Amino acid sequence: MVNRLEIHSIWSGLVQAWKAIWQHADDPQRWAAFAPHCDRLMAIARQQGLTRIETELTPLLELLQTLASPGEEDKAVVDRYLPGVFAAVREVCDERYESGGARGDANNMPVVVMLVRQASAWQELAQQMEQYGYRLQIFSNYRLGMQAAITARAIAVVVELGTEDDPGAMALIDELNRYGPKWFALAREASFALRLTAVRHASQGFFLTPLSAPTLADAVDPLTFKAKEEPYRVLILDDSPTVLASIRKTLNQFPSIHTQALREPEQILNVMGEFSPDVLLLDFHMNGCNGLEVAKIIRQNKTFESVPIVYLTAETSEHVQIEAMRHGGDDFLTKPISQAQLVNTVISKAERYRGLRKLMVEDSLTGLYNHVKAKTLLQQAILMAERQKSTVSYAMLDIDHFKRVNDTYGHAVGDKVIRALARFLKQQVRRADVVGRYGGEEFVIVFFDCTPADAIGKLNEMREAFSLVQHTYEGGSFAVTFSAGIANFPAYTSMGELIVAADEALYAAKRAGRNQVMQAG
Ligand code: GH3
Ligand code: MG
Ligand code: MG
Repeated sequence: MVNRLEIHSIWSGLVQAWKAIWQHADDPQRWAAFAPHCDRLMAIARQQGLTRIETELTPLLELLQTLASPGEEDKAVVDRYLPGVFAAVREVCDERYESGGARGDANNMPVVVMLVRQASAWQELAQQMEQYGYRLQIFSNYRLGMQAAITARAIAVVVELGTEDDPGAMALIDELNRYGPKWFALAREASFALRLTAVRHASQGFFLTPLSAPTLADAVDPLTFKAKEEPYRVLILDDSPTVLASIRKTLNQFPSIHTQALREPEQILNVMGEFSPDVLLLDFHMNGCNGLEVAKIIRQNKTFESVPIVYLTAETSEHVQIEAMRHGGDDFLTKPISQAQLVNTVISKAERYRGLRKLMVEDSLTGLYNHVKAKTLLQQAILMAERQKSTVSYAMLDIDHFKRVNDTYGHAVGDKVIRALARFLKQQVRRADVVGRYGGEEFVIVFFDCTPADAIGKLNEMREAFSLVQHTYEGGSFAVTFSAGIANFPAYTSMGELIVAADEALYAAKRAGRNQVMQAG
């Protein structure tokens, strides 16, 4: 198993040491402190067979050895090697596992492999998993199945274990662990000893039979959604084409970064609106205005209130730097810019910002848009439909007799049902459509550019399919249904009217007996 944490911490130490050199490259002690970090990284790369890190690091170590008394004139040369090393470190530390492309098409669906005693018993689960966007491959020959998992780049493998611990299976699992896919244990019952064996062989989780589709999907979702994350967007505003070109060249080494360059400050708000950057690199001294002023203009817009801004400056005066930070800057890179610091700063700022944004707009139980964000998106959809003379449908959904689910099976099982419906809705609608959780067991969907008849048809299809999904609890399984009300723009012309109309239609569907879709009006 690759120890990501340790590698990451060695890299952080290395960058800190490099920062110190960058400020005072004529201090031999700083150079002496830097080399051991490189050696440690090399040692762990060799020990764990991380060849890409080794390859990137070798020329750097060789270079360091040739520098008898390194100084100011050497720092730029060394610096050039560091982004390559960082890219290799990222590749190892980044858990994103490249898996098949878009969902929907069976050939492109992420694969989950199951190694079980009796393959025929799992066909129904395989069918249900398709609804969740996964292709299940089932094998009773464990070795064959494991090879298939590696070839098909499965995102996860579920391994059924006997009640006694099983050295044969564990040897296979150790082999599997070297190739990437995560594995989960499955058993009829779980003694502490068996759980311990599984944990010691790096299992991601432990399932008990019967295993339901929502439970399995819940467990493997985090492994796939990571792979779908978009690259970080970095916008650079600088009036020097040379600076722009060199920064882009450094950053473009990372497949997880997209860059856009801009030379005219006047365009900044437009470009930010269109490109929606995760980080802005902002030149401090430009013709006609300075970075501070541009930052102030940006911060006056609510949408860009929290986009990280990193100044690029030749200014080393602490006073000026502090003043700039007071006006909405997040960090500084001093020119000449160290490539190592550049990539490190950009990625850490972008990561933080993405995390924050998620928290602001997402519902924590389901990962769907929350109430506030869903409303904002509905408002935008109405404005767009007005301009384009198209239709927007708005649906409100509420699970039927959900109190009974909580009362009978407990709140935790209730939560699982809510998550199952959330994932189900998200997977069934088109990519552009919006799914939000309004609170409790209520959901909303905004269907873009879709006739009211099509929206109702789609909603009924989803209602019927969801009513077939089995939810498990300790003693067995059960199914639930939902009711929905739907209204459309332009039949209702404002957001307020649309929401009231859909809500009333939902109430009517409940009164008419539940498990149905009702249209407003
Ligand atoms: P109806 O068919 O009329 O909708 O019946 P219902 O039982 O679903 O009635 P209602 O919508 O009034 O009740 C919803 C219940 O959902 C009340 C609340 O205890 C429960 N609930 C709300 N939020 C959550 C949650 O996050 N998790 C769980 N487990 N239960 C929740
Ligand atoms: Mg309800
Ligand atoms: Mg309710």
